[in-house]
Amino acid sequence: MSRTVTDAAQAASELSERFSRARRAVFFGGAGVSTASGIPDFRSADGLYHQHFRYPPETMLGHDFFVSHTAEFYDFYRERMICLAARPNQAHLKLAELEREGHLAAVVTQNIDGLHQMAGSREVHELHGSVHRNVCRGCGAVYPAEWVLAHGGVPRCEKCGGLVKPDVVLYGEQLDERVLLASVRAIREADLLVIGGTSLVVYPAAGLVSYFGGDEVVVVNRDPTPADATADLVCACDIAAAFDF
Ligand SMILES: [Zn+2]
Repeated sequence: MSRTVTDAAQAASELSERFSRARRAVFFGGAGVSTASGIPDFRSADGLYHQHFRYPPETMLGHDFFVSHTAEFYDFYRERMICLAARPNQAHLKLAELEREGHLAAVVTQNIDGLHQMAGSREVHELHGSVHRNVCRGCGAVYPAEWVLAHGGVPRCEKCGGLVKPDVVLYGEQLDERVLLASVRAIREADLLVIGGTSLVVYPAAGLVSYFGGDEVVVVNRDPTPADATADLVCACDIAAAFDF
């Protein structure tokens, strides 16, 4: 039977206590972790997106669109997906600290913004890739987000002229199997699973957390999730405030 806490200070105190006991906790995070840093959640995108883009984000972030409308894909990608001004918030910073202190084994994230690494986390499994890696399909050369921003139109590899594609899992593409397996392993071996900032409805989130066989599951999310029913503790509050301990 799960217990729900709505007060952020109470949530922080409960999280602090659980993490202090944990030796290999895993944090599974989604878009809500990044929205606290000002990064828009394109999955819950509203009409704003349509004001000067002719297609909905789900279309523009599809594999087929990347192939057929590469220049328009990059217009959207540069303007909406790369947010270099964003900085880690309290949740990112606390997770990095918990890893340094030996309580947290890994972060598994659906986000592509690199904020966990910027905060100092080392073991980060990026299920959907990262805007910070953009790979030449010809020779495999890797370019940072800054390079993509500095090149208008369709970016071409400086070494071979090949088309550069973001190392981001687009709709219609498979997840990287190595990342998926590493995430499963981390979750399976975890003694505490904290799920944060995700509605857990996007594949493969719901499936992945089912590998957890440890002691306690905590959900930190403003809105209800399918995991609430089986979680030991649900913190229905702001995620950055819940990690303020
Ligand atoms: Zn190349």
